[in-house]
Amino acid sequence: MIEEISLVLGAAKSLLGLAKETKDLLPDSKSKEEIERAIAKAEKDLAIAESSTAQELGFDLCKCTFPPQIMLYDNSSGNNVCPRCHNTTMAKPRIYID
Ligand SMILES: [Zn+2]
Repeated sequence: MIEEISLVLGAAKSLLGLAKETKDLLPDSKSKEEIERAIAKAEKDLAIAESSTAQELGFDLCKCTFPPQIMLYDNSSGNNVCPRCHNTTMAKPRIYID
């Protein structure tokens, strides 16, 4: 189920990218401002959903921003690192099941 959610989030992100590019082609108007606000809200909602999904997948989250940043594993240090503020947490031991 979580894989399907990740796919949907990826598709939504792609569509948002297209919406932003298309919006830039519009002349300045009240409608364009409304579209910009809707895109900004959708981006924030998507980032929240993405963070929640990452947390479900076992990623640590850094609270330096809202929505939170998804911390990624750094092979060289063995820690999880925030891509924004570079805060680190100790990575949890991995469990391998045969
Ligand atoms: Zn951070």
